Amino acid sequence: MATETRDSINDIWGARTPHGPDTPWPERVDEHTTDTPERWVRGTCVLCSNGCGLDIGVRDGRIVGVRGLASDVTNKGRLGPKGLHGWQANNSEDRLRTPLIRRDGRLQEASWDEAMDLIVRRSREIVERHTSGAMGFYTSGQLFLEEYYTLAVIGKAGLGTPHMDGNTRLCTATAAAALKESFGSDGQPGAYEDLDVTDTILHVGHNIASQQTVLWARILDRLAGPNPPKLVVIDPRRTFTAEKATVHLAPRVGTNVALLNGLIRLVIEAGAVDHAFLDAHTLGYDELRRTVETYTPERVETLTGVPANELRRAGEILATTRTLVSTVLQGVYQSMQATAAAVQVNNLHLVRGLIGKPGSGILQMNGQPTAQNTRETGADGDLPGFRNWDNPEHIRQLARLWNVPFDKIPHWSPPTHAMQIWRYCETGSIKFLWIQATNPAVSLPDLGRVRRILQKEDLFVVVQDAFMTETARYADVVLPAAIWGEKTGTFTNVSRTVHISCQAVEPPGEARSDLDIFLDYARRMDFRDQDGQPLIKWHDPESTFEAWKACTRGRPCDYTGLTYEKLLAGSGIPWPVNDEHPDGTLRLYTDGVFPTSAEYAETYGQDFDTGASVTPEEYRANDPRGRALIKPAEHQEPHEVPDDEYPLWLTTGRQVYHFHTRTKTGRARALAEAAPDAFVQLSEEDAARHGIAQDDWVLVESRRGAIIERALIGNVEPGLVFVPWHYGSWDDPSRPRAANELTLTEWDPVSKQPHFKYAAVRISRYDARAALPPKGLLGRAVDAARSLVGSQDEQSTTERSEFPRPKTTQRVDG
Ligand code: SF4
Repeated sequence: MATETRDSINDIWGARTPHGPDTPWPERVDEHTTDTPERWVRGTCVLCSNGCGLDIGVRDGRIVGVRGLASDVTNKGRLGPKGLHGWQANNSEDRLRTPLIRRDGRLQEASWDEAMDLIVRRSREIVERHTSGAMGFYTSGQLFLEEYYTLAVIGKAGLGTPHMDGNTRLCTATAAAALKESFGSDGQPGAYEDLDVTDTILHVGHNIASQQTVLWARILDRLAGPNPPKLVVIDPRRTFTAEKATVHLAPRVGTNVALLNGLIRLVIEAGAVDHAFLDAHTLGYDELRRTVETYTPERVETLTGVPANELRRAGEILATTRTLVSTVLQGVYQSMQATAAAVQVNNLHLVRGLIGKPGSGILQMNGQPTAQNTRETGADGDLPGFRNWDNPEHIRQLARLWNVPFDKIPHWSPPTHAMQIWRYCETGSIKFLWIQATNPAVSLPDLGRVRRILQKEDLFVVVQDAFMTETARYADVVLPAAIWGEKTGTFTNVSRTVHISCQAVEPPGEARSDLDIFLDYARRMDFRDQDGQPLIKWHDPESTFEAWKACTRGRPCDYTGLTYEKLLAGSGIPWPVNDEHPDGTLRLYTDGVFPTSAEYAETYGQDFDTGASVTPEEYRANDPRGRALIKPAEHQEPHEVPDDEYPLWLTTGRQVYHFHTRTKTGRARALAEAAPDAFVQLSEEDAARHGIAQDDWVLVESRRGAIIERALIGNVEPGLVFVPWHYGSWDDPSRPRAANELTLTEWDPVSKQPHFKYAAVRISRYDARAALPPKGLLGRAVDAARSLVGSQDEQSTTERSEFPRPKTTQRVDG
């Protein structure tokens, strides 16, 4: 029997369960099954960074639904639309079931032995001829901790390549960078529980209502209860989140630093500075005060477009609140001065002394579910256990742990960030690129360039995924991967809370878990330690977790007190978990001591303008020894601004019903039907100026490419257009519609996170009955889309009289 406790498509956040700061967040169990489960298996949702606890319903060896876990600290039983429906992707008919090898220009079925032998042969040839520096890895924010750690050890101690990063570079690199710059190490100071008791919530560039729907339900329940918190929202669009704001500030894209400087200035002017806290626990306040002095409300209005009186209203709330939780996401991370802006949010808390206390915390949010683990394990541009690449003692710790020579572990420069990895592929110094569980042919900026790189003759591309993505089509070898529900592992949400997610069903066909694939590769490559023993000494998820625990001992993300048994018995446990904190740690820095001392810090810091690293000598000369670092920044103009030729700002973002490039959510029927297609959102004024009506086709062009989208009019400032970036070509190759055809190849100097949030574009009404231009930017993008489908789809493309999609039936997502 099917069960659906609520219609999460039409009622995204579900019924209110109001509560005040004096009572706990009530339970509400959401469930969606298509048949009666024979058994329930413990899982955790992997469709956003919230990490909601759930049970997976299984019948006849198939997943038939999910049910929220009432006891889970993260969701108390609730699930959002993606969580309730996304599991259907597991049962898709088009799952990859066998390895594929490109032969005679076509991907053809192969055995695992054939595929892995080819990967190993090419790896050896390339390492022999070009060194390990020719090997690159581009991983995900969706694998499990055990998989990342194994990959990190393969890369750093097996091959010895610095070229490993994840798509987390696109989503959470700035979160890590901002936390490191201010507090010395990655790791969120606060906890979700702070939202239950706080007086004020500040969302900066974070449409939480769409991106972490259950966390927003938690806030809605506070707003509906006694003593609700005030809500300050900073977002250029009138989103679902902004609709509930006490004050909504809508700055022009790319001006976050100016706005935040203005708010800090107002807090200082109001005399709301906690000088005792600053004196005891921070360094750098005087420079911040001097820097923000010139950001008067009137000047901020000129720079950002936010009315001075609105800024004052927000400033008053932030200056008078007794407690404050701030959340930050892509509106900051993917924009101009990303790290500098995110750090100003940290500064706001430090200036007010609102950190490490109940109701006061900072959530530099993650975009993807397991992004935190990519960072913890060093499968991105970090070292495992939040170690510092510039601290030889930290390298020695890893060398001892893995029993490999000190110099085997690359540390002569920072680990290569993703954008540079792609650049090395472009210039030819990286000749082997292994991509796992991500889809850069839709998610990276400037897609025309990405396609050209993926097609390079001298680049051997391996793609490991569950589906034939837009990226997999370009691979030399495709490995079919098991996904959530088909493998066991752990991961950590934004709130530092570790969950376990268990295997409920077998993967389809010959698909294997990412961990098994990495272990197989390590065995075939015969990676050895200094004693001639196998480098990788673990063999399954639990033994990997035990090995990982040893890597974290004494580090901020200390897992040594955790076991699979403990995780299964509980319902999410926040690290550090060790002898001192056997039940986990709700919030960090309660004693005002930060991990900034030179011997312990994860970074020595970088210059916000240039990205230049502070040297160890410079850092030690002014060793903060446990004080937080207050780092100011001056506003800088975005690098590309509208002009006569391209007079509008483009900004990109996500929708509530989809995750990433829709590889999974696009295969869940209810989600796909709720948001079937991309669109371009524009203001009434701009629509009228260009003669565009609701649902008209619109040609959007930038200097890099062009797309054609339906018009969605309203709820956006004049001069700004918005396009969701989820949509590639796997299910609709009829027209170019990926927002990243338009975006810039540029990144933040510190976090190296690309700038997706602004680009200069022009728009025009497009007659879809006309033939697509055969040449030029638009033509090339369409050709690329067509090349991904078979002849039947090509025919439908050339014969269509209009693009086949219906008018914008999707629900308007705030
Ligand atoms: S809020 Fe995130 S983790 Fe929770 S159910 Fe929704 S998608 Fe899954």
